[in-house]
Amino acid sequence: MFLLADYYDSFSCVGGSCLNTCCAGWQIEVDSQTLDMYREKSDSFSEYVRANLIYSEGGAKVRLTEERRCPFLNSENLCDIYTHWGDTYMGDTCCAFPRIIWQTPEVTLLAHSLSCEEVLRILFAKVSPVALCSEIAEGEKEIALDTLPNYSIYQFVLWSLEMLQDTSHTFGEALAAVVSMGLKSQTAMQSHDMEGMDNLLKQSDRVLSDVRRGYDVIDKSERVVEPLIASIVDSFWQMVHSRDSYKQGMFYWCEDYFSWDKNTRHQKILEHIKEYKVSAAHITFYRKLSAAFILAQSYRFTTEEGVKNVLQSCLLNYIILVDILPLFWNVEFGTAEYFARIAHIGRIFEYTGGWINDILAPAVAGETGADLDTYIAVLLLRYGI
Ligand code: SF4
Repeated sequence: MFLLADYYDSFSCVGGSCLNTCCAGWQIEVDSQTLDMYREKSDSFSEYVRANLIYSEGGAKVRLTEERRCPFLNSENLCDIYTHWGDTYMGDTCCAFPRIIWQTPEVTLLAHSLSCEEVLRILFAKVSPVALCSEIAEGEKEIALDTLPNYSIYQFVLWSLEMLQDTSHTFGEALAAVVSMGLKSQTAMQSHDMEGMDNLLKQSDRVLSDVRRGYDVIDKSERVVEPLIASIVDSFWQMVHSRDSYKQGMFYWCEDYFSWDKNTRHQKILEHIKEYKVSAAHITFYRKLSAAFILAQSYRFTTEEGVKNVLQSCLLNYIILVDILPLFWNVEFGTAEYFARIAHIGRIFEYTGGWINDILAPAVAGETGADLDTYIAVLLLRYGI
């Protein structure tokens, strides 16, 4: 049986017309089966392919060009391996992206990575909320969800999708409630405790009122919150600057930014934040995006670290979209370029895995010495209440 995002079948790669192709900017692994097929070939193209691989024990990865592009990506942004030999010769990584497949003996979960601009465009255009649906192959029997070993994880995911897209709460409240509930229910998720999870989820109202109460007692004065947000945004830009990706020329990164001293950078960020108005259309998109992110990352809820990391990343996604992307990138919301840039940001993080360690934790500790979870609440609620 398959569980899939309800927009899963709408995706099809736009190939050569993609503004920010996924065949650049990150490591491309070649699985051992595909590598064996390359080794068996003896034409001149196969020599070229083999010469552009970096071999390691048990596999290989593609040797990217100086511009960090896949060498098999031609000037029309099409794959030479596909053109020469067909899709059978494309490795698992290339065939699968941006699909995320979580296979368990009973059920396969299908979702998409948000590092693809076409996936983002589909989510943007989607009129109904993001949902999970099921499909069975011919002759296969439908399985009741609550008999699955991972049901407690699905319980949390389904609850989160609903909470994030329920417009009777602000988006900030909903995000804070999802983070809070996710952290509370880690044990139930890992021990497959369906009843325990059910009891926790029945307390949604309490979680929301705790979130609001927490907001009331937290010091959210400008003196505390502003340096923290400026620091997170600044850490993000420093991190991007330390990577090569911003030099690829497809994005208009603000070079001036890196010549300013820290105080000037923070001041500019705060000026921007005060001026910037998030529209209702942005919020609707971010709700769907966060729901799709939780769904795509559900396979990581099997460990305590995974739960924490996904939920904190969900928060950072939002801060980045609201406070970073529009900061110096003068690009209109909802355009092809807008999606290409968000996908690019997603890729930087998928590649580095640096969400929490590189940005949030140093920013919080450096500026305030505060504990992370308290400030997650402050940051979330800054946007929602
Ligand atoms: S990023 Fe998405 S649309 Fe673009 S080439 Fe990759 S799979 Fe296709």
